[in-house]
Amino acid sequence: MSESDSSPENKLQPETLAIHSRRVYERESNSILFPIHQTATYVHESVGVLKAGYGYSRGGNPTVNALEQAISALEGTEQALCFRSGMAAITTMCMGLLKAGDHVILSEVIYGGTVRLFQQVLGNFGIGYSYVDTTDMDAVRAAIRPESKLMFVETPANPTMKLTDVAAMAEIAHANGMLLAVDNTFLTPLLQNVLNLGADLAMLSTTKYIDGHNATIGGSLASHDVAMMDRLRLVRKTIGTISSPMDAWLTLQGVKTLPTRLKMHVENAGIVAAWLEGNPRVVRVNYPGLKSFPQYALAQKQQKAAGGMLSFELDATTVQAIAFINALKLTTCAESLGSVESLITNPATASHCDLPKAERARLGISDGLIRLSVGLESPQDLIADFDRALTEVFQK
Ligand SMILES: *Cc1c(COP(=O)(O)O)cnc(C)c1O
Repeated sequence: MSESDSSPENKLQPETLAIHSRRVYERESNSILFPIHQTATYVHESVGVLKAGYGYSRGGNPTVNALEQAISALEGTEQALCFRSGMAAITTMCMGLLKAGDHVILSEVIYGGTVRLFQQVLGNFGIGYSYVDTTDMDAVRAAIRPESKLMFVETPANPTMKLTDVAAMAEIAHANGMLLAVDNTFLTPLLQNVLNLGADLAMLSTTKYIDGHNATIGGSLASHDVAMMDRLRLVRKTIGTISSPMDAWLTLQGVKTLPTRLKMHVENAGIVAAWLEGNPRVVRVNYPGLKSFPQYALAQKQQKAAGGMLSFELDATTVQAIAFINALKLTTCAESLGSVESLITNPATASHCDLPKAERARLGISDGLIRLSVGLESPQDLIADFDRALTEVFQK
């Protein structure tokens, strides 16, 4: 157990932590909601003397800081940093930790924006990378080069839900003088604390479960390494990737219900996954909470729950898979995930359409694969909608 586990704050249950922990009130009125400090700059008390260190909102802002306090309480760290987007967090991480000539190991199933960042942007700055099957620790070891600095993985990975053993990755990273960063967007620190599992840096797209209402785009980074956080704060201030006060405020409202929302996301996803698994049109369901999931044991070991994301394979052509999605009345076809609304996509024609078909097949992304972010509607209503849509499409 780390030192911070013994503080009274860590004895609070997540539901309480998300609402009360590290909460600060504004002094003028004690308004129960922390106010939106919509300001570019701050008045010097006398020349060069700043109140609480705030000088310019690219460097820091009290409302952004309130969100950072809330996220750090969930991560179990002293500090967290919030960004304009999940991609701004990842970009700041790379610019802060890497230099030309360095090499990065990426899990081969990873967010499309991360792929574009390395292929189309960081490559131009002399940063090398390899995609590795991070379910295979021998493959991970074999990919390490003398100039390898960082491993960046996503678990569960989009859209196949493949898991990476975070503790095993951390061990290999540290034995080779590398850092391990984990994109924990799908589970959040409440369902999987990657820092406790040994990772050096936890990244979130707060756009997803943390906000939970499709109202903002945002990201966060957290680490126990104070020097690393200082470095990342400096880079964020320099390149201007900090969250805006309004987005931070909206996201802060989402944090308060995160533990309660997650409970229902997990419950609903479990019910929907079990129903899908029993449907003859469904070839396979990828959900870490199902006993049929190939990495069920690893999910039990490193996750506190299976999460609200799943994917399933229909015995269908692309045309049928699209017709199925179009026939749904409750589940909305849209990018993103983790919101109160159930969201559905066909990765082969959406997030992963850039990949050649053979490469998609190798990664388990068939034409009939459907990704589903199970929302907070009644699972019975969702199931009835799926049932009707499947019947409609396959009777034609
Ligand atoms: C959405 C997402 C991102 C990028 O976050 P944005 O907030 O959209 O910039 C990164 N990783 C994962 C797993 C995501 O789902």
